[in-house]
Amino acid sequence: MYDDNARHEVQEEPSQKIGESGWGQPPTGPPHFTREELPVALQGRALLPEDDGYPEETRTYNLRIDVRPGVVIAAASARDVQAAVRLAAAKGSPIAAMATGHATQPVPIGPDAVLVSTRAMRDITVDAQARTARIEAGVRWGEAVAEITKYGLAPLNGASPSVGVVGFVLAGGHSPTLGRAHGYAADHVNSIEVVTADGKLRTVTAVSDPELFFGLRGGKGNFGIVTAVEIELFPVTTLYGGSIFFPATSATAVLNAYREWVKTVPESMSSSVALVRMPDVPILPEPLRGKQVVSIRISCADPSENAAALVEPLRAVTTPIIDTVQEMPYADCASIHSDPVDPTAVIERAGLLRVLTPETVDALVAVAEGTTAPPDLVEIRHLGGAFARQPGVPNAISYRDAAFTLFIANIGGAIDAYAIDAAQARAIERLRPWCTGYTLLSFMSDAETTEQGYTPEVYRRLASLKQRVDPFNLFRLNHNIRPEA
Ligand SMILES: Cc1cc2nc3c(=O)[nH]c(=O)nc-3n(C[C@H](O)[C@H](O)[C@H](O)COP(=O)(O)OP(=O)(O)OC[C@H]3O[C@@H](n4cnc5c(N)ncnc54)[C@H](O)[C@@H]3O)c2cc1C
Repeated sequence: MYDDNARHEVQEEPSQKIGESGWGQPPTGPPHFTREELPVALQGRALLPEDDGYPEETRTYNLRIDVRPGVVIAAASARDVQAAVRLAAAKGSPIAAMATGHATQPVPIGPDAVLVSTRAMRDITVDAQARTARIEAGVRWGEAVAEITKYGLAPLNGASPSVGVVGFVLAGGHSPTLGRAHGYAADHVNSIEVVTADGKLRTVTAVSDPELFFGLRGGKGNFGIVTAVEIELFPVTTLYGGSIFFPATSATAVLNAYREWVKTVPESMSSSVALVRMPDVPILPEPLRGKQVVSIRISCADPSENAAALVEPLRAVTTPIIDTVQEMPYADCASIHSDPVDPTAVIERAGLLRVLTPETVDALVAVAEGTTAPPDLVEIRHLGGAFARQPGVPNAISYRDAAFTLFIANIGGAIDAYAIDAAQARAIERLRPWCTGYTLLSFMSDAETTEQGYTPEVYRRLASLKQRVDPFNLFRLNHNIRPEA
């Protein structure tokens, strides 16, 4: 058993509580922007820190992140985004975009920065015949799925309805429902509308600018502020999906059965397994409240498969506490993970596993059972299938050979950031023998470096693109790709 008490030097660090004296707070300082220099004739609004609306536009899902830009452009249109980029360029200020504040910020957004809040840019246009949707930068997956499913179609959406579509797509985007069947969300993008560092609005496609199109899909916020994306949709109306919850005492048996099971399933079967400390909250079914459980999440979107028969070996491991796996409308897919939608403090780390062995299972269970600041969530998602294949038009996603994602999180409550950070670092170290060294771009936390997202070859390619399109690194408040010739 992994005993994380064995290395407890972290306990002597000064303790810091999230929400009291936020970790990763941006520096404070004199105002960098005056009202006179703010853009006029915006469709949206320009807000200084003292203005009404500033707290709402800078509010993050992850309460651990404190975003305090010198000015917020609450954009209502691509023209507003252009005005924001021109302001930042004129002042030599860094600029960032935020739709929901789900992602941890590797670099604080402080008073020298311009923030573009895209929350008001909410248009979704579905072309059912072409099976595409144009989605603006403020749209969240919940709204997009609700709209798209009206047409008998489905997108490659993420687990949580409150995550933003554009931030997800630019970070690759792992769909736990259709991903193994079709690949990453970034593999199915037709065009990207983006305001680049020169203030120009461009519609970037594989033909118009192949290199920028390569870099935008996986380059996160490094190459401009995206105002809309056009994505491909799939003719899926129902899923066989849900979660099977087992007691944590069966974790080793369940994970080992899962380890064998994933070798047998077709590409239409997407799945993950999570070791979870469920919160003791009334919203949960009584048998799960406050319990440690192991949950297998299932999504099979191929009606020609006997999905119930495929899932049978998992159900047979031991008696589940609750089993919600059944046929469901695609529109209900968020219920598979039931991710919390209300803002909360989260500390997280991520990686990718190249293999899942009995020893990996032992290590995962030991990490979940850790005695010092144990994680609330240890999750692995099954990759392979279409995730492993290069799309027709290649993009910056570099880790096609990984077998599973790895994600560790401590969520909510009075979080002792130093103790958790140290415990998570030890957990990752414990799992290192089975890790690829890379991290899923969309799960990257502030604990991971940009270099962990890309092979050296792809990083060099992105750095050279950055030199061309953002030589002064205006877009640097992110997992930054440094401009290099
Ligand atoms: C509960 C939860 C569930 C999740 N589930 C999944 C999942 O199933 N699969 C998965 O792949 N990921 C998942 N994620 C991770 C999520 O996809 C990433 O954190 C994503 O970057 C969030 O995008 P956002 O716009 O919601 O967040 P934001 O914090 O608003 O944006 C994140 C970053 O994206 C960039 N960005 C956002 N908008 C723009 C823009 N318009 N132009 C340029 N750059 C922009 C910026 O760099 C920004 O810092 C999950 C995260 C959470 C918290």
